[in-house]
Amino acid sequence: MAKDYYKILGVDKGASKEEIKKAYKRLAKKYHPDLNKESDSADKFKEINEAASVLGDEEKRKQYDMYGVDAFKYAGAGGSGAGFGGFDFSGFDFSDFGFDSFDFDSIFDTFFSGAFGGRTRRSPFTRARSTTGKDLAYDLAVSLEEAAKGVKKKIRVTKNYVCDECDGKGGTGIASCPDCDGGGVYRETRRTAFGLFQTSTTCRTCNGTGETIKHACKECEGTGRVRKTKTIEVDVPAGIMGGAKLRVAGEGEAGYRRARPGDLYLLIHVEPHELFERHGDNLVLEQNISFIQAVLGDKIKVPTIDGEASLKIPAGTQPGTILKMSGKGVKHLHGFGKGDQLVKINIEVPKKLSREQEKLLKEFEKSLKK
Ligand SMILES: [Zn+2]
Ligand SMILES: [Zn+2]
Repeated sequence: MAKDYYKILGVDKGASKEEIKKAYKRLAKKYHPDLNKESDSADKFKEINEAASVLGDEEKRKQYDMYGVDAFKYAGAGGSGAGFGGFDFSGFDFSDFGFDSFDFDSIFDTFFSGAFGGRTRRSPFTRARSTTGKDLAYDLAVSLEEAAKGVKKKIRVTKNYVCDECDGKGGTGIASCPDCDGGGVYRETRRTAFGLFQTSTTCRTCNGTGETIKHACKECEGTGRVRKTKTIEVDVPAGIMGGAKLRVAGEGEAGYRRARPGDLYLLIHVEPHELFERHGDNLVLEQNISFIQAVLGDKIKVPTIDGEASLKIPAGTQPGTILKMSGKGVKHLHGFGKGDQLVKINIEVPKKLSREQEKLLKEFEKSLKK
């Protein structure tokens, strides 16, 4: 049976926040288990809090109006919905607080702020501030030859590098922060109507790093990393395509005090080539031959990505014929072998002939009619 939160709080659907707050305060006082000794007062009290936590939060109220209680059922499984995140009112221990110790206004304001039943749940070991280095992206242009054969490229990258001075440690006399037990998160426990209600804030003593430092390194001010521009070498594998994203593990920003570095992503651009057009791992070359070569056949030299190679033109080659040179294309990125070079034949027709040539061709023409 679907719960009607409006009914539980005794307000109508159009109730303002103020009205909801008022109704909540009145009912919460009435059913507080310390004051109300009825056997079902605790359940009733939980129900009131549940209703107020939804109707008191604008976002959740919208969801509830649209989908009802179901809106919160699956939100725990990464749903972006209401952020009600698997929050379960049934687990509260009411024996731990007294009526005088909680403040209905602040509880209700917690509902309004949306902080209650928040989206993210931190494990006690997750540090408040991410100390790992950020990923970086770098646009890398390579020539077609480099893409086909693979290349080691030297690139200049400005980023946070591990501090040489302190070897990334940030200094000496490093100890686990006593205020947060090295977790980086300061937890404050408030007594509320639901029992002990914890709020987590970044530990101010250690800034969320979980560590304190006695003698901070002057070079990096205790961060263990310094911003510099350096040349690094990256490996571009043979067969890479334009538009590919290459991950270079650990070459992103250095982490805070030796925390895991980010990765560097190379966005590959392959420059167009004046002779070859790339089709997958095949290379297409347009080659002009004379009409005599086409008729009689020949053996010619053509450029390939690996330098000149000979190509046999069969007698009677037609314009537009594609001749395949096996294995003269781009190396397959995955697996062995290479693509082919495909040579598209254009036949040149002479525009000017000497008298002698013209005479010979006319004789040839006659010979065709015999
Ligand atoms: Zn340092
Ligand atoms: Zn701390």
